[in-house]
Amino acid sequence: MARLLLIEDDPAIRTTLLRALRERGHAVAAAAAAMEGLQTALAERPDLIVLDLGLPDLDGRELLRMLRAVSRIPVIVATARDEESEMVRLLDAGADDYVVKPFTAAQLDARIRAVLRRDGTGLSETAPAIEVGGLRIDQAARTVTLDGTTVELTPREFDLLHHLALRAGQVVTKRELLSEVWQVPYGGADKTVDVHLSWLRRKLGETAQEPRYLHTVRGVGVKLSEPA
Ligand code: CA
Repeated sequence: MARLLLIEDDPAIRTTLLRALRERGHAVAAAAAAMEGLQTALAERPDLIVLDLGLPDLDGRELLRMLRAVSRIPVIVATARDEESEMVRLLDAGADDYVVKPFTAAQLDARIRAVLRRDGTGLSETAPAIEVGGLRIDQAARTVTLDGTTVELTPREFDLLHHLALRAGQVVTKRELLSEVWQVPYGGADKTVDVHLSWLRRKLGETAQEPRYLHTVRGVGVKLSEPA
Protein backbone atom coordinates (compact mmCIF):
# COMPACT_ATOMS: atom_id res chain seq x y z
CA MET A 1 0.00 0.00 0.00
CA ALA A 2 1.16 3.48 -0.81
CA ARG A 3 -0.10 6.85 0.34
CA LEU A 4 -0.95 8.72 -2.84
CA LEU A 5 -2.03 12.23 -3.69
CA LEU A 6 -4.03 12.71 -6.87
CA ILE A 7 -4.10 16.25 -8.25
CA GLU A 8 -6.76 16.30 -10.96
CA ASP A 9 -9.42 18.91 -11.70
CA ASP A 10 -11.74 16.76 -13.84
CA PRO A 11 -14.30 15.41 -11.32
CA ALA A 12 -15.14 12.32 -13.42
CA ILE A 13 -11.49 11.28 -13.85
CA ARG A 14 -10.74 12.11 -10.21
CA THR A 15 -13.61 10.02 -8.88
CA THR A 16 -12.83 7.07 -11.14
CA LEU A 17 -9.13 7.06 -10.28
CA LEU A 18 -9.75 7.56 -6.57
CA ARG A 19 -11.99 4.52 -6.46
CA ALA A 20 -9.76 2.37 -8.68
CA LEU A 21 -6.57 3.18 -6.78
CA ARG A 22 -8.26 2.59 -3.44
CA GLU A 23 -9.54 -0.75 -4.72
CA ARG A 24 -5.93 -1.59 -5.51
CA GLY A 25 -5.05 -1.07 -1.89
CA HIS A 26 -3.66 2.47 -1.86
CA ALA A 27 -4.60 5.25 0.54
CA VAL A 28 -5.48 8.13 -1.77
CA ALA A 29 -6.07 11.81 -1.08
CA ALA A 30 -7.22 14.12 -3.85
CA ALA A 31 -6.99 17.79 -4.76
CA ALA A 32 -8.88 19.54 -7.56
CA ALA A 33 -6.47 22.43 -8.09
CA ALA A 34 -2.74 23.12 -8.07
CA MET A 35 -2.38 25.24 -4.94
CA GLU A 36 -4.64 22.94 -2.95
CA GLY A 37 -2.50 20.06 -4.19
CA LEU A 38 0.74 21.75 -3.18
CA GLN A 39 -0.61 22.47 0.32
CA THR A 40 -1.83 18.89 0.72
CA ALA A 41 1.49 17.51 -0.55
CA LEU A 42 3.46 19.51 1.99
CA ALA A 43 1.07 18.75 4.84
CA GLU A 44 0.54 15.05 4.16
CA ARG A 45 3.89 14.07 2.63
CA PRO A 46 2.45 11.31 0.42
CA ASP A 47 4.65 8.53 -0.98
CA LEU A 48 3.83 9.61 -4.52
CA ILE A 49 1.88 12.30 -6.39
CA VAL A 50 -0.12 11.80 -9.58
CA LEU A 51 -0.24 15.21 -11.23
CA ASP A 52 -2.57 16.29 -14.03
CA LEU A 53 -0.84 18.91 -16.19
CA GLY A 54 -3.95 20.87 -17.14
CA LEU A 55 -5.14 22.49 -13.92
CA PRO A 56 -7.39 25.54 -13.60
CA ASP A 57 -5.26 27.76 -11.37
CA LEU A 58 -1.70 26.94 -12.42
CA ASP A 59 0.02 24.93 -15.13
CA GLY A 60 0.99 21.49 -13.84
CA ARG A 61 4.59 22.01 -14.97
CA GLU A 62 4.79 25.13 -12.83
CA LEU A 63 3.47 23.15 -9.86
CA LEU A 64 6.04 20.44 -10.55
CA ARG A 65 8.82 23.04 -10.38
CA MET A 66 7.46 24.45 -7.13
CA LEU A 67 7.20 20.97 -5.66
CA ARG A 68 10.74 20.07 -6.71
CA ALA A 69 12.08 23.21 -5.10
CA VAL A 70 10.97 21.91 -1.71
CA SER A 71 10.48 18.16 -1.97
CA ARG A 72 11.64 14.94 -3.57
CA ILE A 73 8.26 13.18 -3.40
CA PRO A 74 8.03 11.08 -6.59
CA VAL A 75 5.67 12.56 -9.20
CA ILE A 76 3.93 10.81 -12.08
CA VAL A 77 2.58 13.33 -14.57
CA ALA A 78 -0.66 12.65 -16.41
CA THR A 79 -0.49 14.38 -19.76
CA ALA A 80 -2.52 14.64 -22.92
CA ARG A 81 0.50 16.07 -24.68
CA ASP A 82 2.52 13.13 -25.80
CA GLU A 83 5.17 14.89 -27.85
CA GLU A 84 8.60 13.75 -26.90
CA SER A 85 9.89 17.30 -26.38
CA GLU A 86 7.23 17.84 -23.74
CA MET A 87 8.06 14.54 -22.07
CA VAL A 88 11.77 15.35 -21.90
CA ARG A 89 11.03 18.77 -20.42
CA LEU A 90 8.86 17.15 -17.78
CA LEU A 91 11.46 14.56 -16.89
CA ASP A 92 14.08 17.30 -16.72
CA ALA A 93 11.75 19.34 -14.53
CA GLY A 94 11.74 16.46 -12.05
CA ALA A 95 8.89 14.15 -13.02
CA ASP A 96 9.66 10.51 -12.26
CA ASP A 97 7.40 9.08 -14.93
CA TYR A 98 4.39 10.02 -17.02
CA VAL A 99 1.18 8.54 -18.34
CA VAL A 100 -0.51 9.75 -21.50
CA LYS A 101 -4.27 10.26 -21.41
CA PRO A 102 -6.39 8.29 -21.79
CA PHE A 103 -4.87 5.67 -19.49
CA THR A 104 -6.39 2.94 -17.38
CA ALA A 105 -6.14 2.68 -13.60
CA ALA A 106 -4.24 -0.59 -14.10
CA GLN A 107 -1.61 1.19 -16.23
CA LEU A 108 -1.29 3.98 -13.70
CA ASP A 109 -1.01 1.51 -10.84
CA ALA A 110 1.78 -0.34 -12.67
CA ARG A 111 3.68 2.94 -13.11
CA ILE A 112 3.11 3.87 -9.47
CA ARG A 113 4.51 0.54 -8.28
CA ALA A 114 7.50 0.82 -10.62
CA VAL A 115 8.35 4.34 -9.44
CA LEU A 116 8.02 3.36 -5.77
CA ARG A 117 10.22 0.29 -6.32
CA ARG A 118 12.82 2.50 -7.99
CA ASP A 119 12.48 5.05 -5.24
CA GLY A 120 13.78 2.71 -2.61
CA THR A 121 11.63 -0.22 -1.66
CA GLY A 122 12.82 -2.39 -4.56
CA LEU A 123 16.32 -3.01 -3.29
CA SER A 124 16.96 -5.74 -0.81
CA GLU A 125 17.91 -4.57 2.65
CA THR A 126 20.85 -6.94 2.49
CA ALA A 127 22.16 -5.73 -0.88
CA PRO A 128 25.87 -5.07 -0.38
CA ALA A 129 27.42 -1.65 -0.82
CA ILE A 130 29.26 -1.08 -4.09
CA GLU A 131 32.69 0.50 -3.80
CA VAL A 132 34.50 2.14 -6.68
CA GLY A 133 37.66 3.86 -5.46
CA GLY A 134 36.60 6.29 -2.74
CA LEU A 135 32.99 6.13 -3.84
CA ARG A 136 30.68 3.98 -1.74
CA ILE A 137 27.12 3.32 -2.89
CA ASP A 138 24.92 1.83 -0.18
CA GLN A 139 22.19 0.08 -2.18
CA ALA A 140 19.92 -0.64 0.77
CA ALA A 141 20.04 2.82 2.36
CA ARG A 142 20.33 4.55 -1.03
CA THR A 143 23.12 6.74 0.25
CA VAL A 144 26.44 7.66 -1.31
CA THR A 145 29.70 8.73 0.27
CA LEU A 146 32.81 10.00 -1.47
CA ASP A 147 36.00 9.60 0.56
CA GLY A 148 33.81 9.23 3.65
CA THR A 149 31.74 12.37 3.02
CA THR A 150 28.03 12.07 2.25
CA VAL A 151 26.99 13.13 -1.27
CA GLU A 152 23.40 14.41 -1.40
CA LEU A 153 21.71 13.02 -4.50
CA THR A 154 18.18 13.19 -5.84
CA PRO A 155 16.49 9.79 -6.36
CA ARG A 156 17.17 10.05 -10.10
CA GLU A 157 20.82 10.94 -9.60
CA PHE A 158 21.16 8.01 -7.24
CA ASP A 159 19.59 5.66 -9.79
CA LEU A 160 21.93 6.92 -12.48
CA LEU A 161 25.04 6.51 -10.33
CA HIS A 162 23.82 3.14 -9.06
CA HIS A 163 23.25 1.87 -12.59
CA LEU A 164 26.75 2.99 -13.63
CA ALA A 165 28.27 1.48 -10.49
CA LEU A 166 26.67 -1.90 -11.20
CA ARG A 167 28.63 -1.80 -14.49
CA ALA A 168 31.74 -0.07 -13.17
CA GLY A 169 34.60 -0.19 -15.66
CA GLN A 170 32.24 -0.71 -18.60
CA VAL A 171 30.93 1.88 -21.03
CA VAL A 172 27.16 2.24 -20.64
CA THR A 173 25.28 3.75 -23.57
CA LYS A 174 22.86 6.63 -23.17
CA ARG A 175 20.25 4.43 -24.79
CA GLU A 176 20.64 1.92 -21.97
CA LEU A 177 20.56 4.66 -19.33
CA LEU A 178 17.37 6.11 -20.78
CA SER A 179 15.63 2.76 -20.86
CA GLU A 180 16.94 1.46 -17.52
CA VAL A 181 17.05 4.60 -15.38
CA TRP A 182 14.33 6.71 -17.01
CA GLN A 183 12.38 3.84 -18.52
CA VAL A 184 11.67 5.79 -21.67
CA PRO A 185 12.44 4.79 -25.25
CA TYR A 186 15.45 6.30 -26.97
CA GLY A 187 14.94 8.89 -29.66
CA GLY A 188 17.08 11.97 -29.41
CA ALA A 189 16.23 12.49 -25.74
CA ASP A 190 19.79 11.83 -24.62
CA LYS A 191 20.13 15.46 -23.55
CA THR A 192 18.25 14.38 -20.42
CA VAL A 193 21.08 12.00 -19.61
CA ASP A 194 23.69 14.69 -20.29
CA VAL A 195 21.97 17.12 -17.96
CA HIS A 196 21.78 14.63 -15.10
CA LEU A 197 25.35 13.51 -15.69
CA SER A 198 26.53 17.10 -15.39
CA TRP A 199 24.66 17.49 -12.08
CA LEU A 200 26.14 14.23 -10.85
CA ARG A 201 29.63 15.36 -11.87
CA ARG A 202 29.22 18.61 -9.99
CA LYS A 203 28.17 16.74 -6.84
CA LEU A 204 31.16 14.45 -7.17
CA GLY A 205 33.39 17.51 -7.51
CA GLU A 206 34.53 16.88 -11.06
CA THR A 207 33.95 18.15 -14.58
CA ALA A 208 33.62 16.53 -18.00
CA GLN A 209 36.94 18.16 -18.95
CA GLU A 210 38.72 16.82 -15.86
CA PRO A 211 36.93 13.60 -14.96
CA ARG A 212 37.83 11.43 -12.02
CA TYR A 213 35.04 8.87 -11.82
CA LEU A 214 32.67 9.67 -14.69
CA HIS A 215 34.29 9.32 -18.08
CA THR A 216 32.44 10.24 -21.26
CA VAL A 217 33.29 8.04 -24.21
CA ARG A 218 32.36 10.26 -27.12
CA GLY A 219 29.68 8.82 -29.35
CA VAL A 220 29.31 5.73 -27.16
CA GLY A 221 28.30 6.55 -23.62
CA VAL A 222 29.72 6.95 -20.16
CA LYS A 223 31.84 4.85 -17.84
CA LEU A 224 32.23 4.93 -14.08
CA SER A 225 35.69 3.89 -13.01
CA GLU A 226 38.20 4.29 -10.24
CA PRO A 227 40.44 7.35 -10.64
CA ALA A 228 43.82 6.52 -12.15
CA1 CA B 1 -7.25 18.73 -16.26
